[in-house]
Amino acid sequence: MNIILLGPPGAGKGTQAELIEKNRKMVQLSTGAMLRAAVAAGTEIGKQADAIMKSGGLVSDEIVIGIINDRIDEPDCQNGFILDGFPRTLPQAAALDDLLKKKGKSLDKVIEIKVNDEALVDRISGRFSCAKCGAGYHDTHKPTQKPGVCDKCGATEFSRRADDNAETVKSRLMAYYRETAPLIGYYFAKDKLQSVDGMAQIDDVTRQISEALG
Ligand code: AMP
Repeated sequence: MNIILLGPPGAGKGTQAELIEKNRKMVQLSTGAMLRAAVAAGTEIGKQADAIMKSGGLVSDEIVIGIINDRIDEPDCQNGFILDGFPRTLPQAAALDDLLKKKGKSLDKVIEIKVNDEALVDRISGRFSCAKCGAGYHDTHKPTQKPGVCDKCGATEFSRRADDNAETVKSRLMAYYRETAPLIGYYFAKDKLQSVDGMAQIDDVTRQISEALG
């Protein structure tokens, strides 16, 4: 099964993608994580993306479509993938349709995670992740079980994203409403959309998504 998780920054797409990945044989494809890796590695794409990401804007369609086009061909994607943070614009959605068709694949479902805007700034400002395995946490909503130790891999180093600050969050939200929210209508019209209540507890959101996926 191939699915998209759709929702504003802080909706819980990454958290839920990690859980789906664990529960089903599917792989999480986060364009944000891939771009951050490119920035850290200092590649040409990373150099182009760095300032845009820091400002909370969107990286060019061409770059992210290229990344996804290549990534989907890798063997671990053959059992199904969870797109997290892609597509983010209508041209990206149209390009995804085309590239899936060319590869003989299809999109099964688009899960929209609905949340109140007021909750997003708090959710984003408290986020941190394991520096070794990337597992995501939150200061109050999802702390590590043992303070300072990653639940998943036991590492003790953590990091916070450069763009997870109150100022940049507003630009990211603007980009979401301007460029990404129209995808809700796009996938509704294609009969792919299912919405879940992202304000519920993490476990409950996972249960809703599980029901939606069948
Ligand atoms: P995320 O980790 O999904 O919050 O993405 C972090 C940042 O990476 C975004 O604010 C954008 O600058 C960039 N980015 C990630 N995915 C995309 C995409 N599909 N299209 C354009 N920019 C993206």
